[in-house]
Amino acid sequence: MNWLTNFVRPKLRALVARKETPETLWLKCPKCEQMLFMRDWEANQEVCSHCDHHMRQQPLKRLPHLFDEGRYELHPLPRVTADPLKFRDTKRYDARLKEAQSKAQGTTDALLVASGPMGGRIAIVALLDFGFMGGSMGTAVGEGLVMAADLAVVRKAPLIVFSASGGARMQEGILSLMQLTRTTIAVRKVKEAGLPYVVVLTDPTTGGVSASFAMLGDVHIAEPDAIIGFAGPRVIQDTIRQELPAGFQRSEYLLEHGMVDAVVHRHELRETLIRLTSLFMDPVVPEDRGLAVAVR
Ligand SMILES: [Zn+2]
Repeated sequence: MNWLTNFVRPKLRALVARKETPETLWLKCPKCEQMLFMRDWEANQEVCSHCDHHMRQQPLKRLPHLFDEGRYELHPLPRVTADPLKFRDTKRYDARLKEAQSKAQGTTDALLVASGPMGGRIAIVALLDFGFMGGSMGTAVGEGLVMAADLAVVRKAPLIVFSASGGARMQEGILSLMQLTRTTIAVRKVKEAGLPYVVVLTDPTTGGVSASFAMLGDVHIAEPDAIIGFAGPRVIQDTIRQELPAGFQRSEYLLEHGMVDAVVHRHELRETLIRLTSLFMDPVVPEDRGLAVAVR
């Protein structure tokens, strides 16, 4: 057995590792199928340089592009009871959760909350992570969003949410559905405090998340060609028994039909968010200018 673990296994690993190198240097655009050099693609914020296709981006990769000089602070999600229903399908829910947590970066569930300066003004940003169990909303995501909303109110800052989700987390049953009302109340508090709440809809935003806080923004921005809707097109087509129009449930279609306010390229998101939040709020007064006015 020692021979197997000490000699054969490392040899096999080395073989597999060597094979991985060319694959991690290049990737194929799923839309135009052109090859993209990984480093260029990352520098281009994971947008295809040939066809402008916006690929799904991890929250942690987005953050440096949003805040001034890429400076921000992460806020850990509140602790919640893991697996309250002791749910099991093909796998135990707590095992599934642990596996997702071991792969997740900067967070313990499908939401990441950060704060930092954006155009000289502190902003609270909450981003759903589709890579974490399909960005599904369970108690932890609900709690995280409530925390983000509270932070916005306390710090008198705008709340910006990036949505990417398949919906409620079915492994938490009714508890995940309760998050629809909780998050709705949370964003309501931000609005009642007179603070802007902006949603950036990214690919895909569906199910319970689109039926709650993701569709309640003061302004809705969508990334190009993102799927946004409640139920999938196949379910709708089977129910109404009619052919659906081209581009149905895509950002541009929703813009045409008044469901979103703007479709914005990823490269222009930061500037757009700064411009939008400044329209809703008092101008930022640099500290020295504020003093000068007070002295006069
Ligand atoms: Zn492409």
